[in-house]
Amino acid sequence: MADIIIKNAYILTMDPDAGDIENGVVVIENSTIKEIGTSTECSADKIIDAKGSVLMPGLVNTHCHAGMTIFRGYADDMQLQDWLENHIWPAEAKLTDEDIYAGTRLACLEMIRSGTIAFADMYIHENRVAQAVDEAGIRAALSYGMIDFGDKEKADKELEVGTAFVKEFNGKGDGRITTMYGPHAPNTCSRDFLIRVKEQAVKDNVKLHIHVLETEAELNYMKENFGMCSIHFLKGIDFWGTDVLAAHCVWLSDGDIKILAEYGVNISHNPISNMKLASGICPVSKLIDAGANVCLGTDGCASNNNLDMFEEMRTAALLQKVSTMDPTVLPARKVLEMATINGAKALGINSGMLKEGYNADMIIVDMNRAHLTPVYDVASHLVYAASGKDVSATIVNGKVLMEDGKVLSMDEQEVIDIAVKSSKDLISKINN
Ligand SMILES: [Zn+2]
Repeated sequence: MADIIIKNAYILTMDPDAGDIENGVVVIENSTIKEIGTSTECSADKIIDAKGSVLMPGLVNTHCHAGMTIFRGYADDMQLQDWLENHIWPAEAKLTDEDIYAGTRLACLEMIRSGTIAFADMYIHENRVAQAVDEAGIRAALSYGMIDFGDKEKADKELEVGTAFVKEFNGKGDGRITTMYGPHAPNTCSRDFLIRVKEQAVKDNVKLHIHVLETEAELNYMKENFGMCSIHFLKGIDFWGTDVLAAHCVWLSDGDIKILAEYGVNISHNPISNMKLASGICPVSKLIDAGANVCLGTDGCASNNNLDMFEEMRTAALLQKVSTMDPTVLPARKVLEMATINGAKALGINSGMLKEGYNADMIIVDMNRAHLTPVYDVASHLVYAASGKDVSATIVNGKVLMEDGKVLSMDEQEVIDIAVKSSKDLISKINN
């Protein structure tokens, strides 16, 4: 007897060999997809009738600082440097591990609601992030964000905390949690430190998550200090590889694009954050043409200001079209690949596709809505017309986290109430 059967769905498998299945069935047993097709002989404890809905792989958010959800709307419409140095950093100095736990629970709730099944995170007090992820039932690749600013003592301490986190939490939460090393960026970490972190990651066989060329200021800093951009600098210290998840990659030359593609680096494109902070535009279509693995992320909630990956997909497509003045670039199916298959590849998880043997990580999108009627092309609607609010069910690792719009793995009101209390306490601490 299987655990769950989902029937009567329009299945967007994202499997290039299978294509879409109209009126299909998915059978889930334990944490994986046992069968997918047009019918089944299996019976199950639970039957979900998805008539009038789309069943698809859940979305993968490849760059987030979930704890920062507590800063949603805290500081908007500012220069990045002013935003970071005069608002975010002073606020973060007052942030407790309890606030980060509250913020991450809120983030997990929002992600489950809007169809995200996994995310990559980099932040402080990452052990509390892991706790929130474990309890919420979502999947995540977590890293402790390390900054040494060229201070040897700080570098030792940061690597110690980062390594302890990697070892303690890898494989936790029934295997839903994986860990990564998170050196913050090439302009906040020293050359020696980046070399040490890469060596440690290779030794521990885990991936790396880093911000790269988010701003023109980073590009100028690297040129001034090292006579080259971050891409060439990281190539010079043997940092690049398929084990690296590089967020942003906005300020790239054609030569940089070649390097990133050649080394199989995973690039997390964060269009809304880049637009809101006026950081620039990542050359996504050029990267894809060069063969690079480009995926999507929301970044932290303080620069977005939500975690809705449907909005991220739509924005990615629109931004690329207007910036290249070519409406044919980044069509809907390509954007869906970025948010599913490519994201899963970047995190090294067996998700992003509905296929036998893959993780049972999927979502149901209710298409019986005015703004999704009529339907000529399902992929088009998912990217250009739908939003996270249209997701009615979210399943991760074979567990139903939300059904018929009701979140089952968390007490929604409690999560919201605690986040509100945390934000109020934080403001009073900042103002004192
Ligand atoms: Zn970031």
